[in-house]
Formats: sequence, structure tokens, C-alpha cells
Amino acid sequence: MYSVSEGKAGRCLRATAFIARGTRLFTFDPRRWQKEKTYQTIQVGPDQHHLPDSDLILLNHSCYPNLIVNTEKGLVYALKDIYPGEELNYFYPSTEWDMSRPFACCCGSPQCLGYVREALWTPLNFLLGQFINRHIVQLIQKNLAEACVFENFIEIK
Ligand SMILES: [Zn+2]
Repeated sequence: MYSVSEGKAGRCLRATAFIARGTRLFTFDPRRWQKEKTYQTIQVGPDQHHLPDSDLILLNHSCYPNLIVNTEKGLVYALKDIYPGEELNYFYPSTEWDMSRPFACCCGSPQCLGYVREALWTPLNFLLGQFINRHIVQLIQKNLAEACVFENFIEIK
């Protein structure tokens, strides 16, 4: 279904056959997590990071991804129809709140963020158009709730 290949951002996975939308490509156990995050881990909870032991580790980022990584179910599946030769990728801020290594994106999509940082730094309107995992939604809600307390902005005299 795919093979390891060279892409614009180094090693990557590339489709070798047609992959229909909804096809499951990987499974992983999100209960197997560590506290330490690296550029290879996938965040699976507010303070939990999963280190894949499969080709999953080679999935690159795109701002217009063709895969979804669902960290609750431990599933990776096709978000759209994928044709042979296309690089497989997912939207890193959908899993990462605070990334260990931000980078300049070369995904080439019209809506490319340019410089990709974690969800914390991704414009909210961009996140709203993407699949994002529940722990990211929860961290956004928590941060908004803390930011929007009136007393944080001005000292009332
Ligand atoms: Zn991009």
C-alpha cells in the first residue's frame, strides 16, 4: 500500500497503490506512552507522548493532510482518496500542543502555514478547519478559559 521513500522533508512514506478515503493504515497503542517528547513522538494526551515502533514514525506533516491520526483510538486512516506516488502525511498540530522542534513547512498547499509550530501557536481559525484530537481541544479550552478572565487583563481600582 505504501513504501519508504525520499521526499521534500527527508524520508517519508509514499502510496504505492490507490488508498480509498477511510482506509485504515496503521494502528498503535496510545496507552504505551512516555513523559518525554521528541521530534519522533506523537502526543496522545495532555502530558503523554507515544513513540511509534512502526513506519508511522516516518509520517511527515502537511497543512493539507491526507491522513488522520486519532490518538484516542490509536488509528491512522485516509482522510481522502490517495493516489500512487502521493506522500502520506498528517497535520502535526492535530496531535502536538507544544512541539519539540518547530520547522519551516514545504508542503506546498495553498493554505500552508509556512512555519509550523504546535497547536498552541496555530491560528484558531485554521485549527477549526482541521481534524484535531480531543486533548488538543481540551488544552485550547483550558488556555482560552485562563486567558479570558477579566481580572487577568486589568487591575480594578
Ligand atoms: Zn504547509
